[in-house]
Amino acid sequence: MYVSDTIAAISTALGEGGIGIVRLSGPQAIEIANQVFEGKVSNLKEVESYSAHYGNIINPANKEVIDEVITLVMKEPKTYTKEDVVEIDCHGGSVVTHKILEIVIEAGARLAEPGEFSKRAFLNGRIDLAQAEAIIDLINSQTETALKTALNQLEGGLSKQVNQIRDNLIELLANLEATIDFPEDEIKGFSSAEIEAKLNSLEEKIDNLLATSKKGKIIKEGIKTAIIGRPNVGKSSLLNALLREKRAIVTDIPGTTRDVIEEVINIDGIPVKIIDTAGIREAADEVEKIGVERTQKALSQADLVLLVIDINEGITKEDKKLMEKIKNKKSVVIANKVDLKQQLSDFKAVKSILSDKEIVKTSAIEKEGIEKLEEVISNLVISGGVKGEKSTLITNIRHKNALKRAKNFINDSKQTFNKGLANDFITIDLRSALEALGEITGDSIDEDIIDRIFADFCLGK
Ligand code: GDP
Repeated sequence: MYVSDTIAAISTALGEGGIGIVRLSGPQAIEIANQVFEGKVSNLKEVESYSAHYGNIINPANKEVIDEVITLVMKEPKTYTKEDVVEIDCHGGSVVTHKILEIVIEAGARLAEPGEFSKRAFLNGRIDLAQAEAIIDLINSQTETALKTALNQLEGGLSKQVNQIRDNLIELLANLEATIDFPEDEIKGFSSAEIEAKLNSLEEKIDNLLATSKKGKIIKEGIKTAIIGRPNVGKSSLLNALLREKRAIVTDIPGTTRDVIEEVINIDGIPVKIIDTAGIREAADEVEKIGVERTQKALSQADLVLLVIDINEGITKEDKKLMEKIKNKKSVVIANKVDLKQQLSDFKAVKSILSDKEIVKTSAIEKEGIEKLEEVISNLVISGGVKGEKSTLITNIRHKNALKRAKNFINDSKQTFNKGLANDFITIDLRSALEALGEITGDSIDEDIIDRIFADFCLGK
């Protein structure tokens, strides 16, 4: 075992809840729990692994009862951390959980650092680094698709692919190095053609993984979207129509203006994040006053723009100005209010400025064209959409950078090879590529980086 002390933390969210959980992990976990627990079983050390025990938590100093609890005992090695783990399920008040934490610390546990349970799971070899990172992604996922992607990574989907590439690399390295080290042994080295084919195949496999990173980033982080258009064209109504039944999350972003709310629409698994909903929702006259500046700001941040026009009012000068601004942006033109009588017969004016953009006709009020709009958005962001995505995707910038570096080293080795230099020059770069790939799973990595990764976890995880 890598570590020897016993850690403790409150593993449930802070604040009030139905239950709270204080978790212990380490060689003394059961002993410490035993000191503070009084129940039907007299000794928690003698109970079976994965058994639950009803009783009280007692302050050993004065025998005061703190709370009525269920204590779960899980014995190493088949636990989250591969160490002995005890979870005390208590009533979910913040005073109760803190008091229990205090008592187990007095009894010999140490307060865990954020992510320390997961770090132990990594250090004890239960999960690799990519799997540990999937745990944070899983907790933070905003859509079911993001959750599935994180789960795939947690189950080792990404690690398996990376390890396969590493195995191929090791095979090639071993062969090249053997011919360097023991030339007289007549080890059958790969032929030039074989070496070339293997280098190409390695590069292709890395490229295939890298190619998923665009999709992975969108699934994980969402796409910043601006809804723009003249006052009264129906931006706010359209936002409501898109949010209806689809509302994924409404979060207050701490540290920003009190009424800034980020709204996320889940479109086929893509988190579409609407920028500046406050601006959209303000009264029309207010929007007119500060509209231009606000639109400009939203546009500069947006990866996707939804330009709303009123289909009954013709294309105005103001519409045209906005169209000019989104020429080079990923965008959709929404011709709203199709339920009203007078409709624009053709969209020549739109097409003359935005020849390559799709125009979707909607009625925000009658909920017409909303599904079509979602389909267009989803295809525009990721062709084919991401619904039901289960494959391995690169969602983590650290992994992406490691893959890029590995690819560059493979490329360097290819150049060296093409120049006809000796095998030991090729192996230097291949070793570096191997190292870069190992950073993804944590096989080769600095302790500092590991610490930084786990510091991003929540307390008690
Ligand atoms: P915004 O200023 O662009 O956000 O526009 P609003 O969403 O506030 O809508 C302005 C007005 O147009 C409101 O009275 C809405 O009820 C109306 N409106 C919005 N969308 C439609 C639509 O599709 N059809 C009709 N008939 N009215 C609409």
